[in-house]
Amino acid sequence: MKGIFTILLVSISLTTIAQERCGTEIHTENMMKKNASYAIARNKVNFQTEKWIKNHPNHSEKTIITIPIIVHVLWKTNTHNISDAQIQSQIDVLNEDYRRANIDKINTPNVWQTIAADSEIEFCLASTDQNGNPTTGIERIQTTHGKFGMNSDIHTSSAGGADDWPNDDYLNIWVCDIQSGLLGYASPPSNWIGDGDGLVIGYQYFGRIGNVQAPYHKGRTATHEIGHWLNLDHIWGGWGNCGNDQVNDTPKQEKENYSCPAFPLNPNSCNTTNSSGDMFMNYMDYTNDACMNLFTNGQKTRMLAAINNYRSNMLSHDLCNTSVGLSEQIKNKRKLIKIIDFFGRKITEIKINTPLFYIYDNGTVEKKVIIK
Ligand SMILES: [Zn+2]
Repeated sequence: MKGIFTILLVSISLTTIAQERCGTEIHTENMMKKNASYAIARNKVNFQTEKWIKNHPNHSEKTIITIPIIVHVLWKTNTHNISDAQIQSQIDVLNEDYRRANIDKINTPNVWQTIAADSEIEFCLASTDQNGNPTTGIERIQTTHGKFGMNSDIHTSSAGGADDWPNDDYLNIWVCDIQSGLLGYASPPSNWIGDGDGLVIGYQYFGRIGNVQAPYHKGRTATHEIGHWLNLDHIWGGWGNCGNDQVNDTPKQEKENYSCPAFPLNPNSCNTTNSSGDMFMNYMDYTNDACMNLFTNGQKTRMLAAINNYRSNMLSHDLCNTSVGLSEQIKNKRKLIKIIDFFGRKITEIKINTPLFYIYDNGTVEKKVIIK
């Protein structure tokens, strides 16, 4: 009997490890091998980024950057053809996560609350297409292609994929039936221009309603992959142990974390004196969607440098519908001050099935109940 349990446990842990959350590092390496000019351009990025950050020490003025998205839905069966509502739920997650308006932000440990960033980046489904015509920002294409891997098929219409919209102007996101074991991948920025720039994500990991699959069912795969698209590395620094993610305020971390660990995890790892351990709830780790909740100020700076250096068309465009009502504008601009319970006690940890009151700086109060 004991033998059977051992075998079961081993097979469960192997399955967990085999679930590679993100193919960005492999994809980038493949691209660099294939295109010498891309390798040269990518190798300059860290230097150019640091130079930009040094020359722009005061980027503290509040400027919201809005990134227009085109979602290419590649579908073979109806299950892959996810609903508009599922796609919109992904846009909502992105706007919450990148503006630090995610309700689970109170789960960020206190020690990191002060460095958790409102990245001041927002997203829209493009309202104008590449020919200047109105669009929903969603393109649906039926395909006979099987599962998509990390090659050019996905962004080549003649191979059963969908062609890019101009990737200087739009963030292209291909949603498809992706190869098993992979949630998604992205192309990090550089001065090299080529097809296929953007994100590829499995349909069941996109959005937080509809055909989504736990534990990657809260839209954090796109949050993570857009981090790569804006030049963030994995928080453990990628290849090798205790690597460098080029961000000063993220603690050194030996390797990726899975599942949903308890804080603190691995204190003083990588020969550092860091009693808080791994920042496993950072969007650039591999933990479950429900356990991720922050980008840091250092990561924000690096993303802003990437937009200014390599994706500057995102700074000014009219590809997002701006006719938003005043009440909506006020709602979007407000800041959460605190969360209290029915008795007026300040809440520091989310409570399930309990009415909580969210108090904002514009005087509005919202009652929310989180149901599990
Ligand atoms: Zn990744």
